[in-house]
Amino acid sequence: MRIDVVSIFPEYLAALDLSLIGKARRDGVLDIRIHDLRDATTDRHRTVDDTPYGGGAGMVMKPEPWAQALESVQASASVPRPTLVVPSPAGAVFDQAMAHDFAELDHLVFACGRYEGIDERAIDWARELFDVRPVSLGDYVLNGGEVAVLAMVEAVGRLIPGVVGNPASLVEESHADGLLEYPVYTKPSSWRGREVPEVLLSGNHARIAQWRRLEQVRRTAQRRPDLLSGLDAPALTDEEHAAV
Ligand code: SAM
Repeated sequence: MRIDVVSIFPEYLAALDLSLIGKARRDGVLDIRIHDLRDATTDRHRTVDDTPYGGGAGMVMKPEPWAQALESVQASASVPRPTLVVPSPAGAVFDQAMAHDFAELDHLVFACGRYEGIDERAIDWARELFDVRPVSLGDYVLNGGEVAVLAMVEAVGRLIPGVVGNPASLVEESHADGLLEYPVYTKPSSWRGREVPEVLLSGNHARIAQWRRLEQVRRTAQRRPDLLSGLDAPALTDEEHAAV
């Protein structure tokens, strides 16, 4: 999969050299290219922002550097019309389903805004070359799109075959089946007076699976009841219904 990120703080994206995403880059599974938006400017000060029309606080990112930077990414794109993700608190909220959709794509481009955001005309213009998706990390405001991109690239990247060593670990995770994950434990079985639930030491795989599923339902009901209401009624057994 090819991923391009355009930012005025390319150093922010250095974390994409680490851990599983960094290894996937070195192994050639992920082709991640980071671009400095200021390289697309033409003035001595490498200006990317200006005052907002209509007045108001803060600065707005100028459209032309964005057009130059995105045109140059598109010129070497791996598909005719890559998807351009524009991180924005005014976008659709990113979730696991969106991560799966993005993981199916061959080429993702991210445009990291700063200040009060990007001149809207640049985003409109980009629709000529890209499938544009304004996406929010959640209902709060960050200083820039870079943190949102780190989160999205990690969530999408780990779904690409070859990035996570054991693909089974992707199946039994929070949000994989609409529920949160069950609690997990490791050795020692007794620690500071706290015991691992007996069923996990039983070796009885059917009982373990049943216990884990019940814990998933309990935990989801306690922490994220909104997720349970989205599940189909037959997805819960009578015992699970009783637990919520
Ligand atoms: N004035 C904008 C508004 O109220 O919608 C907020 C601009 S914010 C200070 C600067 C940049 O941070 C945005 O252009 C976007 O790239 C990024 N950003 C801020 N909050 C975000 C969020 N919740 N999700 C994704 N990106 C976000």
